[in-house]
Amino acid sequence: MVARVIPVEPFDLVIFGATGDLARRKILPGLYRRFRDGQMPDDARIIGAARGRMDSATYRREVAALLNELVPPARRDAQSLRAFCRRIEYVALDAAGDGGWPQLAALLREDVVRAFYFSVAPALFGELAARLHEHGIANADSRVVVEKPFGHDQESARALNATLARHFDEAQIYRIDHYLGKETVQNLMAVRFANTLFEPLWNARFVDNVQITVAETVGVEGRGAYYDGAGAMRDMMQNHLMQLLCLIAMEPPFRFEPDAVRDEKLKVIRALDPVDGRDVVRGQYRAGQGLAGYAEDAGCGASDTETFVALKVQISNWRWKGTPFYLRTGKRLSARASEIAVTFRAPPHSIFGESERWQENVLVIRLQPDEGMKLHVMIKEPGPGGMRLKDVPLDMSFAEALGEEGADIPDAYERLIMDVIRGNQTLFMRGDEVEAAWAWTDPVIAGWAAAGPPHGYGAGSAGPEDAERLLHRDGRRWREIAP
Ligand code: NAP
Repeated sequence: MVARVIPVEPFDLVIFGATGDLARRKILPGLYRRFRDGQMPDDARIIGAARGRMDSATYRREVAALLNELVPPARRDAQSLRAFCRRIEYVALDAAGDGGWPQLAALLREDVVRAFYFSVAPALFGELAARLHEHGIANADSRVVVEKPFGHDQESARALNATLARHFDEAQIYRIDHYLGKETVQNLMAVRFANTLFEPLWNARFVDNVQITVAETVGVEGRGAYYDGAGAMRDMMQNHLMQLLCLIAMEPPFRFEPDAVRDEKLKVIRALDPVDGRDVVRGQYRAGQGLAGYAEDAGCGASDTETFVALKVQISNWRWKGTPFYLRTGKRLSARASEIAVTFRAPPHSIFGESERWQENVLVIRLQPDEGMKLHVMIKEPGPGGMRLKDVPLDMSFAEALGEEGADIPDAYERLIMDVIRGNQTLFMRGDEVEAAWAWTDPVIAGWAAAGPPHGYGAGSAGPEDAERLLHRDGRRWREIAP
């Protein structure tokens, strides 16, 4: 069965930063896939913009070469590549200058959706917003897509919100967190709110603990200059892990629509307890397994920036009081694996006796690799020999369950860009949500100063040993980081 694709309305999408890493690796390949799937109307247009001087024909050739390199052969063909590239224009302009803007204005059409993707350094977001207005390019129906990081702390996030608000209504601003565009993350909402099975159990009475892990094998690669001023807490925890926590913990929204969902997420952030210093572990990777350490990778010399952070988080509301949420994220870990594991409490009494092996029921929501879900349940081991119990996973892996359709899941970015065109903000962060997330994060970071430098951990390991102690103390263990 092949998924039914409904085309979006005609649009002009301007990508500022069209020659940058994000545009090349994610935005343009994602748009091509949507085009090839028939989701883009025939007259949709993509306009690349950056300072580099070149004409549209040169940019189109660059995009074609890029797609030939990045899109697997089975997912591209010469005819659709040519047709896609015909939709593309390029304008050379400086976000902070005046040249190029009249040319951009001349290219845009009146009667289609206008979307502006700010895929440039955050320092330029305000400049872009102001120029769009000065040159009469943005209209009341225009949308702007804003990349992360959204601020560095609560104060800067508030300032950025205020800058954008001078030129755009909140309903026009799409703050992207690509984790929300992942298929499994949305499926998490379907599982929670479209089944009767889980919701009655989804509370502190039945859930023992929740673990959220985002483990990367990559180091800081070429991003040392940015990363050294940010660290794992700002780069990953404040946004991606926090958003996952919100979706797990939130109350059922009255409807699956933008403000209903975002109101519920905001309530979760506001109900988070301040994090006690004993409930935080910071780490930084050192050289190991033939891999360089952070200082060398980042090219920054000695630094106290954390490349790993683990937290025990408590939510003070009726649903979750007493169920800890353990969150961890890090670079240069042993495997690339992102998952949410909801562990249910033990049955109140074992009729099979104490000696019988028993494992908790765990719902594992896997974000990458191999998006899907597994529900671990206990069954009787088949065959003779009495009542022996066995833990088996009920596998809801998309590729297997959904066949061809499940194997071809759209990438988070392509889904989110199409949501921008549709005018659907459900999977984008609202300004007050981002500020509240920083308000919770800032004191944790402020506590670093008194806590001393981060713990070292070997590149390619499971992270600092102290992160284990965070759970041992509570009589629990982290799940293994496995691909
Ligand atoms: P990048 O590789 O450095 O690209 C920056 C782009 O902006 C280039 O096209 C550059 O082209 C253009 N640019 C720079 N100054 C400009 C100016 N004054 N006026 C107009 N264009 C200008 O950056 P990136 O990695 O693509 O990141 C873009 C944004 O996405 C950043 O906010 C970043 O934090 C965010 N982000 C990136 C990733 C990722 O995986 N790369 C992931 C998450 C978020 P010219 O120099 O020719 O102007």
